[in-house]
Amino acid sequence: MRSGQRLDSAQRLRRMHHQLAVAYGPQHWWPAHTPFEVILGAYLTQNTAWKAVERSLENLRAAGALNLDGLRALPLPDLQQLIRPSGFHTRKAPALKAFIAMLDAEFASSLDALAATPTPALRRRLLALRGVGPETADAILLYALRHPVPVADEYLRRIVERHRLLTPAPDRTRKGYDALIQLTREAFASDPARDQARLFNEFHALTVAVGKAHCGRTADCAHCPLAADLRQASS
Ligand code: SF4
Repeated sequence: MRSGQRLDSAQRLRRMHHQLAVAYGPQHWWPAHTPFEVILGAYLTQNTAWKAVERSLENLRAAGALNLDGLRALPLPDLQQLIRPSGFHTRKAPALKAFIAMLDAEFASSLDALAATPTPALRRRLLALRGVGPETADAILLYALRHPVPVADEYLRRIVERHRLLTPAPDRTRKGYDALIQLTREAFASDPARDQARLFNEFHALTVAVGKAHCGRTADCAHCPLAADLRQASS
């Protein structure tokens, strides 16, 4: 892709963010009460609809395990049972335990100490944990630990593909994920650094909102706030 086309795509994505912000307003993400709940949700939502995650979180809340001490004290089989509604429980439960073990061993059980780690080193450490891919790591970084990193997901991938913002279209590989992250960074590169975390937060929430409302497996473009950009891309 030539650099001018790339710039056009970044500018279009920035404009699409504005159009979504006007259409939907502030999203106030992530839907959780504490940073630790955000981390739990980031693990549990892998390959799962949020409704199912809510059932698992409700089970954990009822068991007093929606906090670090409660989850640490929970035996693995019990944890697996409680998070069963959000699927892949035999994989996600040990992954959550591994996160707590890392926090205890390397950060004195402190999320503040974890959050104080510089972003590149922290991202590498999270990615080295079992059960943590780029989307989960970036969601934890942005929404739980307040680091200014973009988050990409299947909704954004579909939007970028359908609006032909990247050539080749991003696939579901790590390379495709990285391309989405890079494009998002470029889209907000002109915004003040102090606003980046807030903008990445809202951008991801807004792409999820439009994805759920209009841009699922089939596209409902006629009623979508991004239809004007799509017409431009197709003309
Ligand atoms: S529904 Fe159509 S206009 Fe809306 S984001 Fe998806 S492809 Fe674009």
